[in-house]
Amino acid sequence: MKALEERILSEGRAIGDDILKVDGFINHRLDVKLIDEMGEEAARLFEGSGANKILTAESSGISIACSAARAMGYLPVVFAKKATPSTMTDDFYAAKAMSFTKGTISMLRVSAEFLGPEDRVLIVDDFLARGGAAMALIDIVEQAGGRVVGVCAAIEKSYQGGADLIRSRGIPVRSLAVVKKIQDGKVFF
Ligand code: 5GP
Repeated sequence: MKALEERILSEGRAIGDDILKVDGFINHRLDVKLIDEMGEEAARLFEGSGANKILTAESSGISIACSAARAMGYLPVVFAKKATPSTMTDDFYAAKAMSFTKGTISMLRVSAEFLGPEDRVLIVDDFLARGGAAMALIDIVEQAGGRVVGVCAAIEKSYQGGADLIRSRGIPVRSLAVVKKIQDGKVFF
């Protein structure tokens, strides 16, 4: 997606060769116009996927998931929680994910009330790196008896292997911007 790539080039900042900082428009301050355009592109990429629900993880995936949901006819959006709130009293599905940026393991949880065997789920997230977060979300959908119809990352860093890992499970992955490498502070698509 050209507008996203241009924005990454003009405002993104590389931290070493592995991490891209996009706090100015996705991860800290939100550019809602760009995010709505990203949602429309996600809807185009997954047109005909049969998705009836979008699943993401808190917090940075939520805005993109909501824009995609709007563009796909107001699909319900469920987001996995990373802490256990005292309100999560009933059954829930859980899976561990290693945080790429923090290096810590977090437990993602979704209440059993909000996912089930009838669900055809599109997973949406801000970044796809090694695939830990997306694989945890796939695990959660499968625990619920649902089916993942695709994974849509706003920014995929293809050299970190996550997309290949997910595709090896037979799940389509389409990303809005695919970073092939980061070198000497420069981002290559
Ligand atoms: P993965 O689980 O695929 O290894 O990493 C995906 C998750 O880690 C995303 O949900 C995102 O929060 C975070 N992440 C991975 N790479 C980056 C990055 O380059 N920049 C930022 N800001 N977050 C990242």
